Amino acid sequence: MPAAPSRVEADIPDTDILGPGADILDVLIVGAGLSGIGAARRLQRRCPGKRYAIVEARESIGGTWDLFRYPGVRSDSDMYTLGYDFKPWTDAKAIADGPAILRYIRETAQEGGITQHIRFGLRVRSAEWSSSDARWTVTAERAADGRSVVLRTRFLYMCSGYYSYAEGHRPRFAGEADYRGIVLQPQFWPDNLDYSGKRVVVIGSGATAVTLVPEMARTAAHVTMLQRSPTYVVTRPSIDRLARWLNRRLPRGAAYRLARWKNVLLAMFFYQLARRRPEQMKKRIIEMARAQVGPEFDVDTHFTPRYKPWDQRMCLVPDGDLFERIREGRAAVVTDGIECFTERGVKLASGDELPADIVVMATGLKLNVMGDVAVRIDGRACDLGATLAYKGMMLGDVPNLAMTFGYTNASWTLKADLTAGYVCRLLRYMDRHGYAVAMPRRDPGVLPQPFLTFTSGYVRRALAILPKQGSRRPWAVYQNYLLDLFNLRYGRIADGVMQFGAGAKS
Ligand SMILES: Cc1cc2nc3c(=O)[nH]c(=O)nc-3n(C[C@H](O)[C@H](O)[C@H](O)COP(=O)(O)OP(=O)(O)OC[C@H]3O[C@@H](n4cnc5c(N)ncnc54)[C@H](O)[C@@H]3O)c2cc1C
Repeated sequence: MPAAPSRVEADIPDTDILGPGADILDVLIVGAGLSGIGAARRLQRRCPGKRYAIVEARESIGGTWDLFRYPGVRSDSDMYTLGYDFKPWTDAKAIADGPAILRYIRETAQEGGITQHIRFGLRVRSAEWSSSDARWTVTAERAADGRSVVLRTRFLYMCSGYYSYAEGHRPRFAGEADYRGIVLQPQFWPDNLDYSGKRVVVIGSGATAVTLVPEMARTAAHVTMLQRSPTYVVTRPSIDRLARWLNRRLPRGAAYRLARWKNVLLAMFFYQLARRRPEQMKKRIIEMARAQVGPEFDVDTHFTPRYKPWDQRMCLVPDGDLFERIREGRAAVVTDGIECFTERGVKLASGDELPADIVVMATGLKLNVMGDVAVRIDGRACDLGATLAYKGMMLGDVPNLAMTFGYTNASWTLKADLTAGYVCRLLRYMDRHGYAVAMPRRDPGVLPQPFLTFTSGYVRRALAILPKQGSRRPWAVYQNYLLDLFNLRYGRIADGVMQFGAGAKS
């Protein structure tokens, strides 16, 4: 667990954040990404009297969609479900470019008057709950001068994403120091890199690799996707024809809602089909790849994974762009291990060498939990990896704290929206009944299980630090929008597990 900053240079009661005459916030949201902005918008609408602020470690809104700047960065789920339920997505493209998503998030913040609630350049390092006065004391480090800012809040709402912004997963290979070309990580893409006419090797086979390869192949001399093992790659049209048709005929909100539901239900249908009839689904996906990539291509080696569909996240390619670049001969896939780097490129386990001017390590994210914030409860350190998630969004025996963790098999925002709605219901319930504290009481009879069941490397590497889930309601994490909709939007707040307390009068 990360430690709290050892050197507190100043304890600044930030009146700028709290507002004049106040010394405590009702809700502190951590993170101004897709989730944090959505959470604030919901809070403003459903709990208009609440005094809230957002603290954001970076100097800008958008999180993921501001951080990632590699060529072609885009969503890999459709914007009718990755968009907020309260703000229709109106661009033509359903599979949208990163900059368009960033504009959408900024617009939401601007329209809702949320931007003025954000304090940028403040990284939360620790949060300490005190039962005696029913509040969190949150310590954040100010980027500008490294000084500590202390904030007090009744409710802490973590919208800090799920991975480290400081580092990605970066394996090291023998001989890297000898390599004469450029080695890059997608998370830290340099401005103005000119790769036209260059030979590029992209190491990896996940969402980032399948985005980068076709985009770079437009102008590079050649791009090779070098993968240790294959992934399921599925084509989807970048434009949703039915959604466009609805848009022309119905009011914007109605068209968006229908398109959203259509995509929610279709995604759930295909997910269920994949889990119930994996062999049939696998055959179909591979046939589709074969049809697009051409008869000469070795689909069995390069596009036939050893695992079942949805044991790991599927990779989506809009309009089959990856397959098209392969057909054109501008891109290739090599499935092999890496022996070492050489002066000229990458030497493979098979003995072949791939010459490269640029090597991109699309080797994945490094997951983290709750923005690496060190949590303490009444003076005791709380090991988040040992906690049990309640409805996949609060933690057993941790009071007045919610976190956003989206779906792995559907758009993140679907769960983020439901979580925000539940938090507002909970806060309103507490107000109606005069409660200051809400805490899911952990049931010792519920056995902890992994929070995520994906077999992907980035998930397995993080299982120890992620909270756990239980085998039954309300401790089970459902990767299922309909079940969560029922539980979070309509389920009872006082369900016998959630315990309430009056707290201190303040
Ligand atoms: C390249 C890429 C493509 C993706 N495409 C999709 C997709 O198509 N569909 C999908 O569903 N999901 C996708 N995802 C997952 C994606 O991250 C989520 O969809 C969504 O953007 C997450 O939003 P968030 O606000 O929860 O987290 P983030 O976008 O990660 O934002 C978190 C914010 O919290 C801030 N923060 C973190 N810790 C602290 C702290 N301690 N103190 C202060 N601030 C802090 C960060 O600076 C950041 O601004 C993608 C992810 C990546 C990396």
